[in-house]
Amino acid sequence: MIDRRDGRAGRIGPLPDEALDALVTVLDEIRFGRSRSRSELVERTGLGRAIVAQRVGELIERGLVIEGEVGPSTGGRPPRRLTFRADGGHVLVADLGATSIDVAVTTLDGRILAHHGEPARIEAGPEACLSRVEVLFESLLRTTERLPGRLWGVGIAVPGPVEFQTGRPIAPPIMPGWDGYPIRERFAARYRAPVWVDNDVNVLALGEWRSGIAAGHDNVVVVKIGTGIGAGIIADGRLHRGAQGSAGDVGHIQVSDDPEVVCRCGNLGCLEALAGGDAIGRAGEAAAREGRSERLQLSLDQRGTVTAEDVARAASAGDPVAVALLQAAGRRVGAMLASIVNFFNPSLIVIGGGVANSPDQLLAAIRESIYRRSLPLATRELLVHRSSLGGQAGVIGASSMVVDQLFALDSIGRWIGAGEPSGAPDVAIAQPRQAAS
Ligand SMILES: [Zn+2]
Repeated sequence: MIDRRDGRAGRIGPLPDEALDALVTVLDEIRFGRSRSRSELVERTGLGRAIVAQRVGELIERGLVIEGEVGPSTGGRPPRRLTFRADGGHVLVADLGATSIDVAVTTLDGRILAHHGEPARIEAGPEACLSRVEVLFESLLRTTERLPGRLWGVGIAVPGPVEFQTGRPIAPPIMPGWDGYPIRERFAARYRAPVWVDNDVNVLALGEWRSGIAAGHDNVVVVKIGTGIGAGIIADGRLHRGAQGSAGDVGHIQVSDDPEVVCRCGNLGCLEALAGGDAIGRAGEAAAREGRSERLQLSLDQRGTVTAEDVARAASAGDPVAVALLQAAGRRVGAMLASIVNFFNPSLIVIGGGVANSPDQLLAAIRESIYRRSLPLATRELLVHRSSLGGQAGVIGASSMVVDQLFALDSIGRWIGAGEPSGAPDVAIAQPRQAAS
């Protein structure tokens, strides 16, 4: 294999804008395994043979694509197999949940080289949480054997709304002290690499779509039921973030008129306040205090509180009160999703997050509500599945976010002249091109 870390790629120089468009198209085809040879590229992209040959040549020259062994011949000269050079560099990612931190170092195709997860409280604020992330990053970089290439980018996911353009959380309900915090600037300054920040549900959706159960679907809703509730939306084969980045914030859809149901966001009757992990835990604790469930009573006695995980465990063991709590939450989530199904017509709904790892009763109640309340045409081919990547979906998704952004038309032109993103200081804090002009 050719090693491009000698800086040779840096002397190739930038590409004209009109060439970039085709370059990105060709690279995406190879990166996602849709085209494996020049002739497949010509067939699938509609680009001319000469253009394809030129762009492939540039990608090989820049060390982004490698030409492998000869593939099977379909008559004539046997084609050379083209593959993305996923070990050209590495990516650092952190997935911050309400109650956990997961960090990983991955290759450029999202393969996890090292991963570490631990409990943490997002409420501790940005200084405490992000310094811990930095310590864990250093430890990963130190201990991972055969780290490929240089650091190409950093991806951070947080459990609240993020303005994607600036990488800042905006008024996040469960993240006190984080409003407007410059997460991107902090990591960009430390690592001299481009940084992207998104909410945890969008990266979960990207993870399931790139490497999990949603692969091959163009219209998907990925719902995360953890402490809060949110959804990531894949629309027409793209992650849909919306105008400001707040698309999919379904936890704060009003589902009740009950003046007693006050949500952390300050509004009344939000779905999250009735069916989120905190709400399930509180309902479990009430049941324990009222002496309705021996198992939940046991959790309360042992730790002085009842969490959604306790309720899930009790339901797995057959506790009827816990089962009823999960079913009630599932019906609420399902009713909300039925509206989304009627509005958006996805082919797949994926249910993930800590609470969703609980027993089948929750998923069954969600499914039942969706099918009962959605229109027949919308549900005829609709699938509802549990998340397939489990606890690693977030870090895999955050890695996909970074690499997708690096190779997007907006940013590839900023660094391709330098050979790799870390070597081009102007993408250390990458902004979309239109924002710079
Ligand atoms: Zn709310």
